[in-house]
Amino acid sequence: MKPLSAKVAAIVPSATIEISNRAKKMQREGIDVISLSIGEPDFDTPRHITDACIDALKRGETHYAPSNGIPELLSAISEKISKENKIPCKPDQIIVTCGAKDAIYEGMEAVLNPGDEVILLTPAWVSYEPCVQMAGGKVVKHAVNPDTFQLDDSVIERVTGRTKMIVVNSPSNPSGAVFDRKSLKLVADLCEDNDLYAMSDEIYEKLVYDKEHISLGSISDMAQRTITINGFSKAYAMTGWRLGYAAAPKKIIDEMSKVQQHSVSQATTFAMWGAVAALTGDQCCVEEMRTEFNRRRTYIMEELDRMGYQTAPADGAFYAFVKVAGDDMEIATRWLEKGHVAATPGSAFDAPGWIRLSYAASMDRLREAMARIKKAGN
Ligand code: PMP
Repeated sequence: MKPLSAKVAAIVPSATIEISNRAKKMQREGIDVISLSIGEPDFDTPRHITDACIDALKRGETHYAPSNGIPELLSAISEKISKENKIPCKPDQIIVTCGAKDAIYEGMEAVLNPGDEVILLTPAWVSYEPCVQMAGGKVVKHAVNPDTFQLDDSVIERVTGRTKMIVVNSPSNPSGAVFDRKSLKLVADLCEDNDLYAMSDEIYEKLVYDKEHISLGSISDMAQRTITINGFSKAYAMTGWRLGYAAAPKKIIDEMSKVQQHSVSQATTFAMWGAVAALTGDQCCVEEMRTEFNRRRTYIMEELDRMGYQTAPADGAFYAFVKVAGDDMEIATRWLEKGHVAATPGSAFDAPGWIRLSYAASMDRLREAMARIKKAGN
């Protein structure tokens, strides 16, 4: 038979899969594995949001909706982006997508031509590179400063005549680092001096501790060349709803819209009504979850420090990023096999020698996991 797509064949499966498959197999065998490898809040979606979705279902919001999203949600998002993120934005500059991941993919498709280069700042979340590749682009990696996890001007060396875009993810998955204004200004200058687009993934913006979240699109004239990615998965514990969005100049949104119209059509109609309630309702639930994550963060960072580990700053998201003395894959395998704790090796994020621990697990499970890691050793 003729070979399948060379483009898809070139995409490597995520390095996280091997450990997580092993963890699942152990769980099936009845072993009590504690998973600190998950990227989702352990809370249920707040009640007023699920109620709004159920009400929408009951009143028959079960039909096709406009491809970019229901007008009520587009208005709520554009208001939020203008007020909170300080990016001037109208409803026609928003597209609601099937999760933030879909917004990232559509954004890449809208901007990239074959061979265009995209600068990824490492450690980087696992899906950026495949999204660039699927859209025909080429990834150029640049490591952030390994002590501060901020950017310095050496990033300029990565720019070539083919560079089209840079991807920024603050707060970062996996490092938990939050970019300060200086790092973001460097990105802005880079984009403005070299006529680049930026994609700013701000999905963890609500989970920031003792630091300020700054949107790249709010800096100088960046709004005209930035695709801001966000969604409902992390802030409102809505991972399974598959709702995300992008805010960008209308001419980019119009191109993303074509990709959406001819692939998934739209995000789910009644789910979008839940998202309207999330954005326009009481925001106490967001703060309650952040406070609980912060409690767990304090615990896990103190414990790692007591155990003698060097860690990334952990200013945001719900990840502790831990420097290990040795091969991260081997150590993560030991933690799993000896300690029955699943963690994600940094190699999955282009950060060999590091391991990511998610603290989106209950305090009791976290305590137990840390005791087991201590026993299993480095
Ligand atoms: N960006 C980052 C940095 C993430 O960690 C995730 C989820 N793990 C996403 C985007 C995708 O989120 P969603 O569930 O909205 O697709």
